Amino acid sequence: PGALLPRQTGFAIRIDKVEQDFGSFAALRDVSLDIRPGELVALLGPSGSGKTTLLRVIAGLNAPDRGAVYFDGEDATLLPVQDRRVGFVFQNYALFKHMTVADNIAYGLSVRPRRLRPSKAQIDAKVVELLKFVQLEGLGARYPAQLSGGQRQRVALARALAIEPRVLLLDEPFGALDARVRKDLRHWLRQVRHEIGLTTVFVTHDQDEAMELADRVVVLNEGRIEQVGTPAELYDQPASPFVISFVGEAIALPVEVEAGLVKFQGRELTIDTRGLQNGPAKVYFRPSDMAVAADGLGEIEGHVESVRRTPGGVRATIAIEGYDQTLEIDAPVERAARLGERVPISLSKARVFPVERKRQRTKVAAGA
Ligand code: ATP
Repeated sequence: PGALLPRQTGFAIRIDKVEQDFGSFAALRDVSLDIRPGELVALLGPSGSGKTTLLRVIAGLNAPDRGAVYFDGEDATLLPVQDRRVGFVFQNYALFKHMTVADNIAYGLSVRPRRLRPSKAQIDAKVVELLKFVQLEGLGARYPAQLSGGQRQRVALARALAIEPRVLLLDEPFGALDARVRKDLRHWLRQVRHEIGLTTVFVTHDQDEAMELADRVVVLNEGRIEQVGTPAELYDQPASPFVISFVGEAIALPVEVEAGLVKFQGRELTIDTRGLQNGPAKVYFRPSDMAVAADGLGEIEGHVESVRRTPGGVRATIAIEGYDQTLEIDAPVERAARLGERVPISLSKARVFPVERKRQRTKVAAGA
């Protein structure tokens, strides 16, 4: 970016015990989070987990019912959207159809109060600079309908950047685009972040997108934060059954914890129980902990029940003795699994969590 797109120092964002209710439904519960200046953070979770609600609270589009939001240490909880220096691209804030690309990008500047509004010449220069930055040079006179989906998304980003925000908020920015365009845009977003240094928070339900792009990922489930960590931390040290299953693939075996020992079908497994209570639990492991046609010793064993070719290689179905579900794994072609072959499963990286009872989502009325 040139002089018109100065390198910004993004805000540090602190979210302190934020809660949001919609009637009796708790959309956000006790959400606390510290985001560092310039950090790229993904909000990851299934549909309805509260990702968009949290993004809207940061943007100032929702006032939380409880808790506070701080930008660089200052309480911004009730600061109006237009005073926050926040640029956002929300799915439902589409481009203005009746305006050219250039007018769309200039919009945030042209609606400022007169004393804060740059001159027409300054706005025009800024639009040219931004078009170049989003690699849409010369397309300023087009209308949104004359652009591809990926180009439109870049116009939306240029529009968000025009006001020189200190925070960039993106809601499923690449959701509707095909795989190829998504990949280009992801690459581009990393670049933007690197060059402008904005604090960026984006919402996604796509774990690959979160793991590939983000410095840290916030995993949301039913309005609560399950875990915050780098992609590697989430993958290697998942804090809950939800995280291990949502971030990467995991296989769960039902076990019993008895006197500090984990038992699978009456047999004792050497797994760290870390102070688990006695009772039903599950051992979670990754498909990569299973070795097809390897000599390795496994704590437990399966055998190959079926094999089929897929575009990615070979997919094998594994049956574990005495366990009525089968497991599916991808096996490399050169180690093509044969029917009946034994599959040692290493549990050295496995994690064990108690079987939890379902949590209540709706608030319980006080005194009830
Ligand atoms: P998705 O991936 O489907 O967009 P999300 O994680 O972004 O989901 P939110 O949009 O934050 O989820 O919604 C969280 C929950 O709050 C949902 O169950 C939703 O129906 C509910 N909700 C959101 N906004 C409102 C509202 N204005 N009024 C009532 N309920 C709402």
